[in-house]
Amino acid sequence: MPTGPETGGGAATHCGFVAVLGAPNVGKSTLVNRLVGAKVSIVSPKVQTTRSRVLGILIEGPSQIVLVDTPGIFAPRRRLDRAMIAAAWGGAADADVVCLLVDCAKPDSDDTRRIVGQLKKSRREAVLVLNKVDLIEKSALLALAARFDSEGLFADTLMVSALTGDGVGDLLSLLAGRVPEGPWLFPEDQISDMPERLLAAEITREKLYLQLRQELPYAATVETETWTENADGSVRIDQVIFVEKPTQKAIILGKGGQRIKALGAAARTELEDLLERRVHLFVFVKVRERWGDDPERYRDLGLDFNA
Ligand code: GDP
Ligand code: MG
Repeated sequence: MPTGPETGGGAATHCGFVAVLGAPNVGKSTLVNRLVGAKVSIVSPKVQTTRSRVLGILIEGPSQIVLVDTPGIFAPRRRLDRAMIAAAWGGAADADVVCLLVDCAKPDSDDTRRIVGQLKKSRREAVLVLNKVDLIEKSALLALAARFDSEGLFADTLMVSALTGDGVGDLLSLLAGRVPEGPWLFPEDQISDMPERLLAAEITREKLYLQLRQELPYAATVETETWTENADGSVRIDQVIFVEKPTQKAIILGKGGQRIKALGAAARTELEDLLERRVHLFVFVKVRERWGDDPERYRDLGLDFNA
């Protein structure tokens, strides 16, 4: 087994992959961001917003922990959904530790049941993370933990609130202790493997979801088309929101272009925070029919078209 560089204390380094599995909306992105201490995965109250696999990378003591924030695992309907599921399970198979995240307030979803079934079939031991403990009574929580424990699948059970941070420190220690000995795979200051262009597109997509909610067509995607570094240290980013129908384009533009202006402003503010520099953001809307069947989109997202 390869041993990593020695840390200051003389202990050998550890490094490993942790798959974060869970039904849509259980709080995976929130937890990943909380663990990493920065926003690397978009969070939205609307389901199915995580389209690509995002890595959050963090260091705890001698351990580098690489979190695989999987797309929501749900019943496949379309080709895109199947590709997302294949990506999610691919992440689980490669992982050193599998965490199943469950929403305490909705513990009995079909999605959670399906994932538990899959884990049993693949004989993967997992860490159970009961999230959103801020939403339920202590007694109900203990009963819930006992019930999941009887599945015989979970090596450990942790109770956390990704929102408040409650219990997250314990989870961090547990993960740090579980990843195997080995050299760190990423530079110490790296927190994501997502290219900045893709991260920038994700941020705009999050604003779309937050501002349009129910009105937003599921098929809307955002792409960063150009990224230009300016001599004054600022950056110009041109993005396109692709939709399938002219009516959807009108919704995103809003009256007199008000809507796209507002969402562009929100995205720019966050990008400036993230990149720590001035950002000139230009967002356009274009109609592109049936993008869901276009192999190139899948490649861009790191998904397998033939899944
Ligand atoms: P994902 O689909 O599993 O990635 O879930 P998200 O991280 O996007 O979270 C879905 C929703 O649950 C968002 O509205 C979050 O703010 C909310 N949420 C996440 N964690 C918690 C928690 O610990 N407590 C509460 N009350 N809400 C949470
Ligand atoms: Mg998510």
